[in-house]
This record gives sequence, C-alpha cells and structure tokens, in this order.
Amino acid sequence: MDLDAFPRTELGFFPTPLCHLGRLSKASGGPRILMKRDDLTGLATGGNKTRKLEYLVGEALAQGCDCLVTGGAAQSNHCRQTAAAAAMRGLDCHLVLGGSEPERAEGNLLLDLILGAEIHWSGALRKGERISEIAAGLERRGKRPYLVPYGGSNETGALGFVRASLELSEQLRKTGENVSRIVFASSSGGTHAGLVVGRALAGRDWKVTGIAIDKGEAGEGPFEDLVLELSDRLAARLGLGRPIAREEITLRNEFTGGGYGVVGEHEIGAIRLLARSEGILLDPVYTGRAFGALLALAATGEFAKDETILFWHTGGTPALFSPAGAALA
Ligand SMILES: *Cc1c(COP(=O)(O)O)cnc(C)c1O
Repeated sequence: MDLDAFPRTELGFFPTPLCHLGRLSKASGGPRILMKRDDLTGLATGGNKTRKLEYLVGEALAQGCDCLVTGGAAQSNHCRQTAAAAAMRGLDCHLVLGGSEPERAEGNLLLDLILGAEIHWSGALRKGERISEIAAGLERRGKRPYLVPYGGSNETGALGFVRASLELSEQLRKTGENVSRIVFASSSGGTHAGLVVGRALAGRDWKVTGIAIDKGEAGEGPFEDLVLELSDRLAARLGLGRPIAREEITLRNEFTGGGYGVVGEHEIGAIRLLARSEGILLDPVYTGRAFGALLALAATGEFAKDETILFWHTGGTPALFSPAGAALA
C-alpha cells in the first residue's frame, strides 16, 4: 500500500539536512560519518517524534478528535512535540508525565507549559500507563480524545520513519553517496520499526543498528521482540509481501550505563566531542548515549575504514536545560 494512502498532516520541515561530520571523522581516524539532522525538524525545537506525529495527528483529525492524550517521562521530547502539534492543529493536549510537579519547570516540561498542555502527574509511571484512564475521563466530559501511544510507537506513528527512509534514500541518490549502516537511539521501538521496514521498501542494503537506551525492566519482554512484532505488523500494513526476520532487528544493549536518563562519562564525552569538533548539540538522554556508542564501536574496530556510517540525530536538545544536563557543566 502506498504511504500516501494514510492520513497525514505536515508538522515539520522536510527533508531534514544530511551533513558530513568532516572534522570529527578525521579526528577519530575512523569511518566517514554522515548525520541526518532530525533535531532540525522545526517542531518546537524538533526531534524524531515530529515524523510520527504527522501520521498520528493526521489520523486524529481524520477521526474528528478534538484533543490528544499521550504520556512519558517528565522530560519527554515526545510529549513536548505532541503539545506543539496539538497547538498547530487547534487541539487540546493532555500529558501524563512520570514523577511529581517540580518546584521549577525546566527543559521539555517548561516548553509543555508554554505550549499550553495540561499535565497529569503520575508518580512512578513514566511510560504513559495512565493514557487510557485520562482519555476515559475526558470522554465522560464530552470530549473526543485521540490516544497517542507512549513514544508515538505504533503502526501509525512508525509510518513516519518509513517515509524518512525513502527521504534519505532520495537524498543519497541525489548526492551519489552510499551508507553501509544507520546508527540511532532506540527506546520505544517506532523509529526502529520504521527504519527496518523503510529499508526494505527503499530496496537499500544498509544495516539498521539501534542503540538501546533503556535497561529492560522487570515484567517487560525483550525489547527486540517488541521491535520485531511492530516491524512485522507495519510490513503487513504496507503490503511488503514478506515477514520481517529476526536477523533484521539489530539492537546493541551494552551502552545502557546507569539506566534511563542517568548521564555518565560515556554520554558527557560524546556530547563534548561533537559540540567541540562540529558545533552540533546532542542530548544527554538519547543521542549522547547513542553517538557515544557509535564512537565506541568505531574505536573497537567494528566498522571498516572505508565504510560510511550514518548517525540519525533524533533530537532531544531541550533536555540539556533540564536537571540531566547539569552533569555537563
Ligand atoms: C523518543 C526519542 C528517541 C527514541 O525513539 P523511539 O522511536 O522511541 O525508539 C531517540 N532520541 C530522542 C531524542 C527521542 O526523543
């Protein structure tokens, strides 16, 4: 099925830039590194959720909904972009956030408030567990809520990264470049599934290597299984004509450090190196960890010298101005 058959509403500026990290590639003596700048999608400081929200909000509008409900961590980039998307389309936005109201709103949380979202604090639940409960309450009050899943990661949101794969393929065709591997931060699975299915649809042979950001939590199945199941449902929805094989899902689990949102030397080193060699900002939770992983893999000889590796910058820079960013001072 054609991607254009799914409702979509434009929320960002695409294609995002594709740039060569010349100084960094040279300094590290490793492979050639390209960066896909989804930190520049333009939706209230940008990020990878913009692409997913184009399809999710497109569906919400097609269904005649009048508000969006989603959830995540207090510093969720996904929630901040959802709040901005809601504002752009004249919808109300309810965010179910982990933790409790801090004394000072910083980073993404500050932006959520500026964007007019209503916050529902949820203590230990940071993965949007109460989204349907809040939506049910809104329905009782006569509203028509649209439920955006945690991270925007379902078969609708992931369409955004199928489209992104085709966008990249076209950019590379124009510049005559080739990439052998895409490296990115993987956390709720939608980006990963979209890139896996998008690769197949684009007829490309680059490897898709997700860097796991979260340590698996008790009671959750392996993250690989979730990505595989979502990829497979997405492939079926798009009529790919074959199932996705387990070998197509590559996740590196050795960089989760102290767990979600814990900023260590690994993240700090990567953020400083990229900032000081290229003037590009990473975030402390996702891209700092994933770019650090790319550097570590390059240092251990994982890539051949003549390879071109693409790092997908998924955004998240507002978190530099949150408590997690304080470690960088
Ligand atoms: C959400 C997010 C990711 C992970 O994307 P998923 O589709 O949830 O796996 C990576 N980087 C940033 C900055 C994010 O906000």
